[in-house]
Amino acid sequence: MYDDLGRHIEYVRISVTDLCNLRCRYCMPEEGIAKLRHEDILTFEEILRLTGCFARLGARKIRLTGGEPLVRQGILELIRAIKQVPGIEVAVLTTNGVLLPQMAGKLRQAGLDYINVSLDTLDEETFFRLTRRPSLPAVLSGLAALKEAGFRHTRINCVPLRGINEQDIPRLAELARREEVNVRFIELMPVGCAYETGLERIPMAEVRKILEESFGPLQEAKARESLWGPAEYVRPAGFAGKIGFIDAMEHKFCSSCNRLRLTAEGFLKLCLHSSAGLDLRGLIRQGATDEELTRAIAEAVRRKPAEHRFSAQEQRERDSRYMYQVGG
Ligand code: SAM
Ligand code: SF4
Repeated sequence: MYDDLGRHIEYVRISVTDLCNLRCRYCMPEEGIAKLRHEDILTFEEILRLTGCFARLGARKIRLTGGEPLVRQGILELIRAIKQVPGIEVAVLTTNGVLLPQMAGKLRQAGLDYINVSLDTLDEETFFRLTRRPSLPAVLSGLAALKEAGFRHTRINCVPLRGINEQDIPRLAELARREEVNVRFIELMPVGCAYETGLERIPMAEVRKILEESFGPLQEAKARESLWGPAEYVRPAGFAGKIGFIDAMEHKFCSSCNRLRLTAEGFLKLCLHSSAGLDLRGLIRQGATDEELTRAIAEAVRRKPAEHRFSAQEQRERDSRYMYQVGG
């Protein structure tokens, strides 16, 4: 499917829950969270119907996210079913990794293509400070479990934060030296509670500098197909994996944005920053046919915003959802 700016939309991020077993400071408040009621969340049947509509419109890649997608009951069946949807070539998942020790093998068997693990630090104290939970050992076992299960091309995503995890930038990048994993650094975005908590992003130019001090000049790796996302990759000499940078704040990649987001309650978000979108749950529950849903999605996609406006004065269109409600 194409929007009015000619962007080819072929990737949909589907949030399957707003629940999470961590409380990352930039994503989710510790308390006072209004949980969605069970009946407000899309059923698997509804998610699969919508996946079929997206696929008919040309989507090829689905990412399951959350909240924490692995806490949703029945996630393995959903993955198996998504892999059967005609047109869907790639099914992947973003997780905090806490439940991977017990689930990695099953996720592999269910047919997931690869997994992104969010990990901001290798230090237990910093992990607790950031996520408010003592779960670093579980995440590290989870990374080992992914390898044992035969997953390749695992991505480790880190949000660099000033005064918090600078020392982890080279340590995390080091994970890509011997293993074929891609370690990616993503700028903190002013979504939900991110900036109100006083956390400060480290710009990507600074992250590159920190890495060059440890690894020498960073050579650009080969460009990839758009389906794989907005990261720019480098491969330091002698590294098996790559290091990626997602410069979220400069909206350098808005002009080639290929994605849509579906929230757990079935709202189709056209841009991470903007509240523009479509209530697909409402349409489904009012009895819309697959053809009607597909037409409504195609119509909405045409209105996808040109770019995010994180840094603009004009904040009228800003979405008030937190990141755990959107899926990253
Ligand atoms: N719970 C899963 C996880 O943490 O991987 C999936 C959902 S989480 C919302 C997806 C990603 O969003 C994580 O990698 C997290 O670091 C990132 N994220 C959350 N809030 C963010 C923010 N304000 N700016 C940048 N990334 C953010
Ligand atoms: Fe949970 Fe992921 Fe948000 Fe952390 S970033 S609170 S793990 S949803």
